[in-house]
Amino acid sequence: MVYVAQVLCPLRHCILAPVGEIPEELRDHPDVKAEIEKFVRAEMETTLTDRPSKWMRGLRMNPWCHLCKATMETWTVEITFLPANLDFAQAVALMKEGELEQLVHRLYLDQQKAQMN
Ligand SMILES: [Zn+2]
Repeated sequence: MVYVAQVLCPLRHCILAPVGEIPEELRDHPDVKAEIEKFVRAEMETTLTDRPSKWMRGLRMNPWCHLCKATMETWTVEITFLPANLDFAQAVALMKEGELEQLVHRLYLDQQKAQMN
């Protein structure tokens, strides 16, 4: 079962949205979302170190939202299970599309900010 763990600042800017997989039979376990969130938060912490994990693709990130500056402590993690007929590769492709849209949005806002200064 493929999931997306959207990490959101209080204004719901998407900080990142890693995709992962769990065995289908765990989907309805009462602790599964809390466990995924714990895992994602631990992995995010590694991005602040000199040795970011492979799961985070070696990504290094700032502990604040690029758009509104909300710090990491204020972020929430929303777990969504994707339809069973969507496999991991399809989910990653969808996330990459979303990532590209977010990048365009961020570049536009950076440009607007630069013009105001
Ligand atoms: Zn934000």
